[in-house]
Amino acid sequence: MILVKAFAIVCEASRRVLNMKPYDVQIIAAIALHQGKIVEMKTGEGKTLAGVMPAYLNALTGKGVHILTFNDYLARRDAQWMGPVYEFLGLSVGYVNEGMSITERQKAYSCDITYVTAKEVGFDYLRDFLCYEKDRLVLRKFNYAIVDEADSVFIDEARIPLVIAGDVAEEEEELFRLSKIVKELKLGEDYELDEYEKNIALTDAGLIRVEKILGCDNLYVPENLGLLTRINSALHAEVLIERDKDYIVRNGRIEIIDEFTGRIADKRHWPDNLQSAVETKEGLKSQSKGKIMGSIPLQYFLSLYQKISGMTRTACIAAEEFREFYCLDVVVVPTNNPCIRKDYPDVIFANKEAKHKVLISEIERIHETGQPILIGTNSVQESEMLADELNIIGIKCKVLNAKNDEMEAKIIARAGEVGAVTVSTNMAGRGVDIKLGGEREQERDKVVALGGLYVIGTNKFESKRIDNQLKGRAGRQGDPGESRFFISIEDEIFKKYSFKKMLPKLNMPQKQDERIDDPIFRREMESAQRVLEGYNSDIRRQLWKYSFIMEQQRRIIHSRRQNILMDKEPLQLLSTKAEERYFFLQNQLDDKVLRDIEKQLTLYYINRSWAEYLDYMSYVRESIHLVAIGKKNPLDEFHKIAIEVFDNMMDRIECEIINKFNTIEIKENSIDVDKEGLKGPSSTWTYLINDNPNQFSSMNLLIKGTSSAIKGTLFSLKSIYNRILKKSM
Ligand code: ADP
Repeated sequence: MILVKAFAIVCEASRRVLNMKPYDVQIIAAIALHQGKIVEMKTGEGKTLAGVMPAYLNALTGKGVHILTFNDYLARRDAQWMGPVYEFLGLSVGYVNEGMSITERQKAYSCDITYVTAKEVGFDYLRDFLCYEKDRLVLRKFNYAIVDEADSVFIDEARIPLVIAGDVAEEEEELFRLSKIVKELKLGEDYELDEYEKNIALTDAGLIRVEKILGCDNLYVPENLGLLTRINSALHAEVLIERDKDYIVRNGRIEIIDEFTGRIADKRHWPDNLQSAVETKEGLKSQSKGKIMGSIPLQYFLSLYQKISGMTRTACIAAEEFREFYCLDVVVVPTNNPCIRKDYPDVIFANKEAKHKVLISEIERIHETGQPILIGTNSVQESEMLADELNIIGIKCKVLNAKNDEMEAKIIARAGEVGAVTVSTNMAGRGVDIKLGGEREQERDKVVALGGLYVIGTNKFESKRIDNQLKGRAGRQGDPGESRFFISIEDEIFKKYSFKKMLPKLNMPQKQDERIDDPIFRREMESAQRVLEGYNSDIRRQLWKYSFIMEQQRRIIHSRRQNILMDKEPLQLLSTKAEERYFFLQNQLDDKVLRDIEKQLTLYYINRSWAEYLDYMSYVRESIHLVAIGKKNPLDEFHKIAIEVFDNMMDRIECEIINKFNTIEIKENSIDVDKEGLKGPSSTWTYLINDNPNQFSSMNLLIKGTSSAIKGTLFSLKSIYNRILKKSM
């Protein structure tokens, strides 16, 4: 069997080149990866090397293999680390990082093995969709991918859409005016919040007030739809999005704090209107004026690969989702050495302050012994506050919130040194090994004697999987280690989802600062986390269902455009539907010139119409939950609209090509794209859409039913939906 031979060759090459002979467990993982499975392998077990075997085997076909890493730093590090093994075996290796030129990308993607983040390759896919010249395309057909930190990519980030936008003008003045108007509005009078404080809506009185100030009769008439959306976004930005909690302002720009990782989310935007609204609220020049030209959620992007597999430390807990969304099975690979880490039960308090006191004294106690400590918090803000406090009491610590992955990797690599205290958010430094004693081998025994790395969680995270990721930083490769979480009922996560209400009253402690040891209470808190996991998973499921049809449509339009660009599809529209001008021009021009004109027109109108389609469907998605009031099924209605609008779009593309062709001016065998208005955007940029708060709450409504706080206002919003329906007919 070729697998046996190929893997044996890699094992030998690795031994010769890197002086690492893969362990049996790494070979088991490699087999599962080749079979297209998700492999669960504990931290420090050597996933990087395990991935080389299936990558080599699958690259033998010459179709290219992508290894999708967690960040740019790891793409570079792993390509350079494993590169010599592939090269020894006669294969080429490359990596792609943000900021690389088209030529560098083309070179890296043409290699047998390419290390790159899922986001970067996704952005390249979107950029290729806007390309007008064959030789500027960077990607080949997607063949096989191995996804590192698979749970993060497939599950936590899966619903984040990657977006490419192009520049168009927008009036800034109006945005400032709207921002000023919403500052005057009052809660309870002019607008209301839902019970989770995640959705906001104008009351009828508020609506009338805004209409009066704007001097418009009715914000619900079709021509005011854009204005209404911008008002809602301005209100949302003003009331629900908080500076220093949801974002910070740095160098004149908004930088979003990722709710999930607690870190500054690089290249992240809120959905278009909301982003401009927050920029305006802060008095900044809008950076986000632009039209979305293409977008794809990571979830769908990954499914473009012929074959896909993944590896992570925590897959088993999410096995059901891997199966449901991606038809991927999870294989748990045993550790090379047994794991001897001690995971202590959570220390629970009713009161946040009491928890904090005990947390600090525990850090002091452990630190005195010299045992290294890694503290996982759930936000940048929290890690900074904790670090300040520790510094005041004389405990020197390192904080991991650098924007630079490489610096972060260097800090976390030293978190296992004697006496080290490292404060981090949950995802920081993921993919980087913490060696006991740091780089100095002789220090290792000392740290082992102290009990290894001690991991402290200051909060529970939104899923047990993330808790386990944090715990797993200790106890690598049979090392000793310990872990403990300190939690309180007043923690953000419990407050946010009103869990206090769910907890049994009888078991509530008498004194607020008492430690809680009641097993019933403990069980309830665990089940609260499970409820939350289920809830998040439901949202992902809903989004998946909602985007399914649009994704099929995107595939149709992408492949049509790429076929035309690559001259794989004959162009016959003009010769059959604009015969008169076509045959007239045929007598004067070369066939190739005519074909190039038709090609240019087709590529342009596909892009333009698709951008309009995306714009339109995002309006529909944000208000589709309203149909539930009319007892219709929102999902069915949404699909119905998507199909109709898409069909119309396909017809319209043809009409626009024909109309333009009939009036276009041709000089010296070519057309002036600027003059004819056929130029694509002069610049494009890519970003990730932060969880759409509106969408989130729409999904919320679909899952939980309409919340009473905004039921009334939904009725007054119903007209939007009616209008949308009318427009799409
Ligand atoms: P993971 O990504 O699974 O956490 P890494 O790929 O970063 O782990 O590897 C962890 C450490 O184990 C690295 O320092 C690597 O050099 C070492 N390692 C991995 N496989 C082997 C092996 N077969 N023999 C010796 N050392 C290995």
